[in-house]
Amino acid sequence: MPPYRVGILTVSDTACKDTSADKTGPSLKALIEGEPYGADFKVTQSAIVPDDHPEIISTLGTWSALTEEGQPLVQLCITTGGTGFSPRDRTPEAVRTLIVREATGLQHLLLSVSLQKTPMAALARPVAGVTADGMLIVTVPGSPKGAIENTEAILKIVPHALDLLSGGSGKAVHKAMGMPERQTEGHAVDKHGITHRHHQHHGHHSHDHGHHAPTPRSMDVSKGVAARHRKSPYPIISLQEAFDQILSNSPLPEIEERRVDASLTVCILAEDVFSELDLPSTRTTNVDGYAVASKSTLAGFYPVLSSKNYPGHILTDPMLEAHIYRINTGAPLPLGTDAVVMVEDTELVEADEVTKDEKVVKLLVQVPPNENVRVPGTDVKKGDLVLESGTRISESGGELGSLIFVGRKKVRVYKRPRVAILSTGNELSELHEQRGGDDGPVIYDSNRPSLQAALQSHGFQVIDLGIVTDDELSTTAALRRGCQEADMVITTGGTSMGEGDMLKPAIERRLSGTVHFGRVAMKPGKPTTFATIPPRAVSTTSIAKKRSTLVFALPGNPASALVTFHLFVLPSLRKMSGFPEPRYHLPKVRVKVLSDMKLDPRPEFHRVCVEPSSDEPYLVARSTGGQRSSRTLSLANANALICLPSSKDKDAKDVKAGEMADAILIGSL
Ligand code: AMP
Ligand code: MG
Repeated sequence: MPPYRVGILTVSDTACKDTSADKTGPSLKALIEGEPYGADFKVTQSAIVPDDHPEIISTLGTWSALTEEGQPLVQLCITTGGTGFSPRDRTPEAVRTLIVREATGLQHLLLSVSLQKTPMAALARPVAGVTADGMLIVTVPGSPKGAIENTEAILKIVPHALDLLSGGSGKAVHKAMGMPERQTEGHAVDKHGITHRHHQHHGHHSHDHGHHAPTPRSMDVSKGVAARHRKSPYPIISLQEAFDQILSNSPLPEIEERRVDASLTVCILAEDVFSELDLPSTRTTNVDGYAVASKSTLAGFYPVLSSKNYPGHILTDPMLEAHIYRINTGAPLPLGTDAVVMVEDTELVEADEVTKDEKVVKLLVQVPPNENVRVPGTDVKKGDLVLESGTRISESGGELGSLIFVGRKKVRVYKRPRVAILSTGNELSELHEQRGGDDGPVIYDSNRPSLQAALQSHGFQVIDLGIVTDDELSTTAALRRGCQEADMVITTGGTSMGEGDMLKPAIERRLSGTVHFGRVAMKPGKPTTFATIPPRAVSTTSIAKKRSTLVFALPGNPASALVTFHLFVLPSLRKMSGFPEPRYHLPKVRVKVLSDMKLDPRPEFHRVCVEPSSDEPYLVARSTGGQRSSRTLSLANANALICLPSSKDKDAKDVKAGEMADAILIGSL
């Protein structure tokens, strides 16, 4: 068996500046490749990065990417440094964003090994776990001693985990380690991407097999409708659990360098931007008027110097004695002047007959030094923080203008996710397509254009997968294309218990996906389904996906689709496009409701139009009418969703007109 591929990532500001300061990285390499581990492990990647969240994530992301063989480039990644308590110690937080399954036991091991040496080890914050692509990451301390103790402990036991992660049974390793055989039940994926269960001998415990998909709960469509479940096998989870599942499976974005121009609008900065200049860079005037030497220029009569009447005169030439210099707002002051008299404080005395230019002007006032002058660096000083990482380059233009003002030509921003959309349902027609004569009642596909409009208004690039009929193969093919071309696929319809509901079977049984939840306690939107599809299920020789694709299978009813889009999909997209954590969810405001709203046992989201009131100091919320989930018209004019609590959590049966409530803003006021 070839040795396991190991990556060593040194995280240290100091070592990053001076690589000779990295003592730990080389010691770890010597340990891993020397006796007695060298036969089993080889260090194939090593790098040094600063204590910087995006840099750590980006290196680990590259190491975790799948190779042609469908295995992560690095199987075991050891990071050293950045696990303590100083403000720059961010390694655990960065690593955690990539981990989809925590290896709690390994974390205990790391702590207990170190605690045997010193109680100070309790101040370490180790993390261990597996990425979506199956790379095992373990964080060890930065000191050579601590790092070596920890790494030795790990190397003794991880071969078993690495074997399982790479698709082996773990039997060979168990045997080599002198452990009893055990029985596991897992899944293998054949060349068509179809998951099969396979059995091994049963023992006292079972593994969650690395990248294998979990047991599908969806129906096996080939068995016919009579064999379908009569009760959904997916538990109903709470809204909070749904948010947790979604956000923990939504990856942080990669970073890219972009040209600074209007195409940056809606992007989020991935770096702090500092000014490289003093601005203004020279003394300039705030007003239209006459530049003067303040001390010697009293009120009185002066000949005017201007580019017209002295064409050869330039700013750096000495001023003509006892002259004043005509100047317009924003222009630099000429040499020898230090203040500006406003044109309003002057009178014309004599004009040139031919050129019509001013010849002599009377100053009505004397001004002090710096009057009406912008001094260099008074707008921004060189080195000032202009825009913070995490700032959104908004449609108002202010952030773009600021970047350009300080002369930034390129800037690092978060890459934006691409989103594919799909409608499902035998009954659906495309609005603009000709229908046959006897096609039954018409239901136009309104979900896809509505979602497209909403996504584009948030600046996302949309890939249109069209409409598919309710059969497993068409649904699978469309999903597969979506996964290949986009980071997220949003579908509507086909998520309930009907015979044509193909989403969950296609995701689980055909694409080895994991359904994280299939039902949520909410109204509307109960059958909302959230899943991830691993890269290997859709990668081809020409398309190598690095990350899992997120799939939101939203209910078909238009109101349900749009409510769940705003509640679940947008927060995920906001995280994936670099919004800071406190802003993943859409903003909530307190509003006064204008009509009674009945409470349901499920938390409900009532479509309303929120607007300022001329009579009272509150925003008021007017219901958009009947809230049946199929009533598309309840969406027109809705710019907010009132969050109605479950009737089980509140003594009252309703929220009465005049009461205050929380509203999630889904549109502009
Ligand atoms: P489903 O979730 O597939 O059971 O669909 C629930 C209801 O929503 C059915 O009445 C569908 O006809 C309707 N529906 C599903 N998809 C769409 C769509 N894209 N546009 C409009 N209505 C839809
Ligand atoms: Mg349907």
